[in-house]
Amino acid sequence: MHPTHPQHFDPATIRGDFPVLSELVYGKPLVYLDNAATSQKPLSVIKALNDYYSHSNANIHRGVHYLSQKASSMFDDVRLQVRDFINAKSEREIIFTSGTTDSINLVAATFGRKFIGQGDEILISAMEHHSNIVPWQLLCEEKGAVLKVIPMDDDGVLLLDAIPSLLSERTKLVSVVHTSNSLGTINPVKEIIALAHQFNIPVLVDGAQTVAHEKVDVQELDCDFFVFSGHKMFGPTGVGCLYGKETWLEQMPPYKGGGDMIQSVSFEKTTYNELPFKFEAGTPHISGVIALGEAINYLNKIDRNAAHAHEMALLNKATSLLMEIEHVRIIGTSKNKSSVVSFIMDGVNAMDVGMYLDTLGIAVRTGHHCTEPVMHRFKIPGTIRASFMFYNTFEEIDKLAEGIQKAKGLLRRN
Ligand code: PLP
Repeated sequence: MHPTHPQHFDPATIRGDFPVLSELVYGKPLVYLDNAATSQKPLSVIKALNDYYSHSNANIHRGVHYLSQKASSMFDDVRLQVRDFINAKSEREIIFTSGTTDSINLVAATFGRKFIGQGDEILISAMEHHSNIVPWQLLCEEKGAVLKVIPMDDDGVLLLDAIPSLLSERTKLVSVVHTSNSLGTINPVKEIIALAHQFNIPVLVDGAQTVAHEKVDVQELDCDFFVFSGHKMFGPTGVGCLYGKETWLEQMPPYKGGGDMIQSVSFEKTTYNELPFKFEAGTPHISGVIALGEAINYLNKIDRNAAHAHEMALLNKATSLLMEIEHVRIIGTSKNKSSVVSFIMDGVNAMDVGMYLDTLGIAVRTGHHCTEPVMHRFKIPGTIRASFMFYNTFEEIDKLAEGIQKAKGLLRRN
């Protein structure tokens, strides 16, 4: 059961922290319901970017001068923040990347290079984002390995019973999404990890849609890798993280070669830097990392249980209102869902609905949401997806439902 809406959580106050939410679109108040694509940014994050370039800009880990030392220590401090944010054992286990996609590619390129060979198997699920499919396909093509898929039912729930028969002594990695971006399903990753670990198989969890909505504890999950993007959790674009258990990261070869990831270089032999720097070649997204630290500060300041309860209340309201609309069908009806409602309207193209809602100032996403296999599973070309964050309001859900009613009147008649 979803928790009930707490009395004390006030989205109106929270909204004040996000300047873009006061924008007008075509003269109408913006109703931003595309949070699964990217979250909006609080002023403190925007200010951190500006402050960094105004007062602290320098390259890191290289300079003896004041600014370089300052920027380096600001950057390094965020690694400690991320460690605590996901409860990793050590900051050596936190690698800064450009985002979820980059983090998964890193694991595919390095873990894959070392541990996956001809005839080995990688198990993913039927509801993966393309970024947790294609890197493995590239690896399989290169190595002659095989990609296997955990199926799901008509509610968009993974069939856990199928997992044991999909695991074999050739399975080298399980890589699953925690929260589906197109269905909203929250997968029982802890159970999947425990199952895989019975066979000593490591597990990567794609947490792109999780970190903004629930607290993550990688030690409690016992996942081997956990990946996420800054921009989906109030931070800037172009920055993200890979958490990896030290035992794995130590064994994996470097990803990209260049500055900062080396201990010493000669034409005969190069030795690599220690963790986590071994995986961070070149000048990183310094301002992005520092602003990500500010996003974590922001999240740490709000009552996350109340925020989560509010999102569940938004989800429940949207679900009930949409279920009342004839010719509208929700895709993704798992009992355990994040604040995402994907739906189709019989006889109407999803993009037309999205474009009509846009004229009302309502931002939703339409299409396959980078999960084409999910659309194939449901035999549909795409959905309309409204995804909520704790700064959304019940009034906005009403506007969404009214907009869908109007879209139906207009588009189904034509
Ligand atoms: N995985 C999931 C579940 C996602 O929702 C997304 C983005 O929508 C990604 C991976 C890719 O994230 P990014 O584009 O930030 O690398």
